[in-house]
Amino acid sequence: MARKLERFCSEGKGNGLRAALPIRAGEQIFTAEPYAHVVSKNGMGTTCEYCFSRRKTLLRCSQCKTAYYCNASCQKGAWPDHRRECKCLQNLLPHKKIVTDSVRLVARIVFKLLKPSSCLGEELYSLTELESHVADMSEQKEEGLGLLSAMLQIYLKEEVIDFSHMPPGLDLPSLYAKVTCNSFTISDGELQEVGVGLYLSMSLLNHDCRPNCVMIFQGTKLCLQAIQDIPALEELTISYIDTRMPSEDRQRQLRDQYHFRCQCPCCASADKDVDMLAGDREVWRTQQDALPRIEELQDQQQWEPMLEHCQALVDGNGDAVPDSNIYALKLLELAQDACINLGQWEKALVYGTRTLQPYRLYYPYLHPALAVQLMRVGKLQQYLGRLEEAYGTLQQAYDVMKVTHGCEHSLTCELRGMLQQCQAEMSHA
Ligand SMILES: [Zn+2]
Ligand SMILES: [Zn+2]
Ligand SMILES: [Zn+2]
Repeated sequence: MARKLERFCSEGKGNGLRAALPIRAGEQIFTAEPYAHVVSKNGMGTTCEYCFSRRKTLLRCSQCKTAYYCNASCQKGAWPDHRRECKCLQNLLPHKKIVTDSVRLVARIVFKLLKPSSCLGEELYSLTELESHVADMSEQKEEGLGLLSAMLQIYLKEEVIDFSHMPPGLDLPSLYAKVTCNSFTISDGELQEVGVGLYLSMSLLNHDCRPNCVMIFQGTKLCLQAIQDIPALEELTISYIDTRMPSEDRQRQLRDQYHFRCQCPCCASADKDVDMLAGDREVWRTQQDALPRIEELQDQQQWEPMLEHCQALVDGNGDAVPDSNIYALKLLELAQDACINLGQWEKALVYGTRTLQPYRLYYPYLHPALAVQLMRVGKLQQYLGRLEEAYGTLQQAYDVMKVTHGCEHSLTCELRGMLQQCQAEMSHA
């Protein structure tokens, strides 16, 4: 099959990828398995290190007590990537905290590079070519990088003594910098972070705050989906960051993490900034300041205090801040999540429903986040027996998801099943 994309030189941006032929919205442009990947701290203990399935009960590696698997066959499949890492993890067991996701990921790449048989196959971009942006770093960042590569060296010390066989240009600090600028968060279909991985060819994609493509994962496989019709030779773009942030915050994150200034039309016009920060400034500042604490409660699964906090902040202010304000919106989502975990379905639906209009405002195009949120709300409606409403919402979710996730994605299949079930229940009612 002819490749739908090709490497090119994008004006003002350097390397990029563009459509080799016309592409329709919903088409899968490219799929890739990672060059290297790890389950992130967020997913540890609930995600299989091999297939990235999420399960309540997993088997733990008896040696390092860090890696988890569905079963013996997943453990066996992961062994070539885990074998040397397992020893490093064992050595650091009492100091497990220093092993950050990026330390683990870079270490896996080092093992790969030191294995003489390693081959890159059909990648459009090589590890040596990846940008490290070391020259653009502030002194403080460079110091941080030095610290991280020192940690990496401690982590690797029993397994790798001699780094002189590393390919030229790939000393530890540069490799570390390359990986942090170029790795992607791997999420499940519902957009929850589960891991981090390096997909070399995909590192050629440039950023746009309103991109024409999205990355969706099925396990560890990355699928690049077109969310718009794209003419031949047009550049393919993704968003490197959560775009539901005011332009100034987006620019800051892009500069700090990726070392460039976004010139996209959304940034140029500061589009939606006014909506994002609408309402009484003092009130939404309080909401914004409360978010880290509430997210901490969420991590600790303390649903009751979490819900109380959210309720006080979103319901206690009259109309001072509209639901479309991004901090108010975040609180509504957190309130919905707490309610679901407490089994308070009616209330969860109220909060969920309030998010939909702001979601449509921020994702006026087909976006995976819109599909997932519509599905969540539709699920609640269905559960509460509001079948017609549920059917309508799920149908809207489906229209978006078949483009953003593709018809074959497991979540799209699940949604199709829900629609059929809803229809069957309606005809019996
Ligand atoms: Zn598995
Ligand atoms: Zn292990
Ligand atoms: Zn932008």
